[in-house]
Amino acid sequence: MTKLYPNIGLEIHVELKTKSKMFCGCPAEHFQVKPNTRTCPVCLGLPGALPVPNKKAIDWTILIGLALNCRINQESTFDRKHYFYPDLPKGFQISQFDDPFCRQGFLKLDSAKKILINRVHLEEDTAKLIHKKIKGKDVTLVDFNRSGVALVEIVTEPNVTSGSEAKEFLKKLRDIIRRLQVSDCDMEKGSMRLEANISLTPDPKHLAKYKVEVKNLNSFRFVDQAINYEIKRQTSLLEQGITPTQETRGYDDLKKQTFSQRIKEAAGDYRYFPEPDIPPIVLTPDYVERLRAKLPQLPETIVQELINDFHMNISTAQLLVKDAVKLAYFKKYLFKIDPLVLANLIVNKKIDLDKPPQLRTASEAVDPKIIAQIIRENADVVAKYKAGKTSVIGFLVGQVMRQTHGKVDPQEAQKLILQAVKVRPWRLIIQV
Ligand code: ZN
Ligand code: MN
Repeated sequence: MTKLYPNIGLEIHVELKTKSKMFCGCPAEHFQVKPNTRTCPVCLGLPGALPVPNKKAIDWTILIGLALNCRINQESTFDRKHYFYPDLPKGFQISQFDDPFCRQGFLKLDSAKKILINRVHLEEDTAKLIHKKIKGKDVTLVDFNRSGVALVEIVTEPNVTSGSEAKEFLKKLRDIIRRLQVSDCDMEKGSMRLEANISLTPDPKHLAKYKVEVKNLNSFRFVDQAINYEIKRQTSLLEQGITPTQETRGYDDLKKQTFSQRIKEAAGDYRYFPEPDIPPIVLTPDYVERLRAKLPQLPETIVQELINDFHMNISTAQLLVKDAVKLAYFKKYLFKIDPLVLANLIVNKKIDLDKPPQLRTASEAVDPKIIAQIIRENADVVAKYKAGKTSVIGFLVGQVMRQTHGKVDPQEAQKLILQAVKVRPWRLIIQV
């Protein structure tokens, strides 16, 4: 049997959390807002209304591109993507086709494999369709509050090869975008939406002539499962000599299966052409560099620093970095108690982040051997203490907390250290 190589490309839509929409001044927040209360002629697509691009949305798109190691186009254009659907009153979506803001980037996985980014572009979100039963009749209602909200689309090259790789990539991508504070990336609220294009080829140098798109995947786990299911389904077809149909499929998470939805249009069907109401956007290298300077430290770098500086284990470091509130708390109290103890309290003990860290009252007794060992190993510090530099006691307590993984009461540890140092001032070793 010939070996088949999976080629998986991912498309991710991320709603930016700008205050106003992409091409008008309407508030962009639409989650749990009374339907059709945040609209104007522009986002309703009324004739004659003119779009004005949102500068912040452009800056944020470029920030995402820079964080993904992309090239930033000096001149970008908006295009019209035509299709008919009730959620799109103009009959076209303003998007980017030939000249998106960002191209050719990558994101590195833990294995150091680079998932290649084809493009990062900016477009507008569509209205939301709500399917309901009213007076016994099935109806579809349209809420235009979401129409025109700034939406970034990130498209990878098809060099993802498994469900688990896709999942790792998506988690890292979400963490980066959250770190940039440009989107909540909340899949339940729909501010992050995932699609995967999957095909298999017997020749690793050439892509297959078909691809299957799986849409509406609303969790990373479902992406993983849907991809693995498709790899199996397509493999069995190809082994029977059948080329899988080029189509769009959905995913049924109860049956853990994908199912056919519709036969996919080719890109040409969208009749892309330049948006005549928005001139090309020219970015000077200087402008891009000023944005680059605003990039915060990215999760990858911070995780590495936590490992290097504090010998933190990778999973604790990753959990800490994933959550901006937790990371800020860690930084705030970093010098108050032992960093590893602090990290453990935040990540594993889920302490109240509105209060300063409290160590447990029901502490374990301090093993005198540990006190003895720490005094022995830090003779120089003890000497400083005895010479009058009493502040160094904090360092010794920190060592005890580290050795005991935070299980003892620091007050108790301090008492024992002082006793040990004072009771036998002539020697720096406690006999036990
Ligand atoms: Zn509007
Ligand atoms: Mn799109």
